[in-house]
Amino acid sequence: MEGNAADGRLLEIPQGELMFINQGRHSGWIEVVCGPMFSGKTEELIRRLRLSLIAKQKVRIFKPMTDNRYSEEHIVSHDDQKFVCTPVAVSKDIMGKVKDHTQVIGIDEAQFFDEKLVDVCQTLANRGMRVIVAGLDQDYLGVPFGPMPNLMAVAESVLKLKAICMVCGGLASKSQRLTNENAQVVIGAKDRYEARCRACFDPDLGNENGLPFEPDRQKPTRQDIPRQISG
Ligand code: ADP
Ligand code: MG
Repeated sequence: MEGNAADGRLLEIPQGELMFINQGRHSGWIEVVCGPMFSGKTEELIRRLRLSLIAKQKVRIFKPMTDNRYSEEHIVSHDDQKFVCTPVAVSKDIMGKVKDHTQVIGIDEAQFFDEKLVDVCQTLANRGMRVIVAGLDQDYLGVPFGPMPNLMAVAESVLKLKAICMVCGGLASKSQRLTNENAQVVIGAKDRYEARCRACFDPDLGNENGLPFEPDRQKPTRQDIPRQISG
């Protein structure tokens, strides 16, 4: 990607690094890290926050109280990386907990927050803070999830990660629910979800028999997947 360096030269640099070159007096921005479950969103969020801490920046991390899967007071990756955070009930509670000297804000599981999260992130970025938001872009039906689509629209940087499809080994962009629960928010990990690509994803899977899905017996095999017709 082309970027305009301070001396006016055009440089070939990746999108993520462009932001750091442009960091000057007006340093506030929003970064979104999204994708399906198991795609490494929390790992990537933790990686970015660790770098900020090494650079001695003042960092605050938040997550919705709804996400208590592995820990009440940490963001935790499926690979068991951890980072202490402040759980909050609603997005506006973040405002009261950010100090004036805070430089970097991390928010995990952003899809569970209310729509006001977009205004909260915009306000903090406008104050000069770097806001890094991680969350599921789609729910278990493949529908854009909570405040994520609007956050992606206003963000300066969006990274869409992929996992590995548990059926065919392709690039997974969807979170397949393996049970017959119908609520949009059902907290779980490998007990309830697996990563799948577009072709292997089946939003109706859990409802087919009205029974809890048994992954080993009913999972489609490679032969069941329709072949792509080329030309
Ligand atoms: P996310 O926050 O996107 O749910 P995490 O950062 O918590 O993801 O976890 C990513 C880790 O999940 C990977 O490094 C890997 O160890 C593990 N993992 C489990 N299933 C898969 C999969 N199908 N594809 C890729 N990684 C997976
Ligand atoms: Mg995560």
